[in-house]
Amino acid sequence: MYFAVITLFPEMFEAITAYGISGRAAKRELIQVDCINPREFAEGNYKRVDERPFGGGPGMVMMAEPLSKAIQHAKQLAKQAGCVHVPVVYMSPQGKTLNEPAVQQFVKYDGLIVLCGRYEGVDERLIQKYVDQEWSIGDYVLSGGELPAMVLLDSIIRRLPNAMSDEQSAEQDSFVDGLLDCPQYTKPDHFEGLDVPEVLKSGHHANIEKWRFLQRYQRTQQRRPELVEQVELTKQQKKWLKDLES
Ligand code: SAM
Repeated sequence: MYFAVITLFPEMFEAITAYGISGRAAKRELIQVDCINPREFAEGNYKRVDERPFGGGPGMVMMAEPLSKAIQHAKQLAKQAGCVHVPVVYMSPQGKTLNEPAVQQFVKYDGLIVLCGRYEGVDERLIQKYVDQEWSIGDYVLSGGELPAMVLLDSIIRRLPNAMSDEQSAEQDSFVDGLLDCPQYTKPDHFEGLDVPEVLKSGHHANIEKWRFLQRYQRTQQRRPELVEQVELTKQQKKWLKDLES
């Protein structure tokens, strides 16, 4: 999948391209990440990309022109990378809140252009003209769109086919089927007075599967009851819950 990120701080994206699952995906060319600095498209000696807001008030606003040129350049790069339809996404606290179903939709695109804001944000006309979608990573405000963009990229990349090995399957993760993940244990058997549940050491796969499902269901009920209401259970899972009640 192709990503063009428009950012004043391209170096930050090494966190994506050099480390962990996303770093391996980059090395194996499952993804390509190009960072485009809007400063390169700014005019004048100082290469300004921000100006004072019309109407007064504190802070600065990212100017539309350098950003529009950066987006047009990103579109060309995406085309050269073989992408057909590449939406422009602006990371913004005012966007829709990112969640797993949205991530699974993003995985279907062959490319994405991600715009990272700074200062008080971006000139509204740039958003009107060039932005297809606005996404937030939560109801709080960060200093810039780089961390939100990295959150978006990482969440997409780990769900791309072949990005993770079998042992690392994302299918068991929280939210994938609507439930939270089950508790996990590893060696040693005893830790500061706490033991690993016996069933996990039994080697009985059916019992382990049942235990894990019930843990996931109960945990979701306790922590995120609103999720449980929307979950579609299999016949087997419904039976396990019925057995528990009787
Ligand atoms: N004045 C803006 C507001 O209140 O809506 C906030 C601007 S913020 C300081 C600067 C940039 O950080 C934004 O343009 C956006 O790109 C990014 N940003 C901040 N919080 C974010 C969030 N929760 N989700 C996504 N992007 C965010």
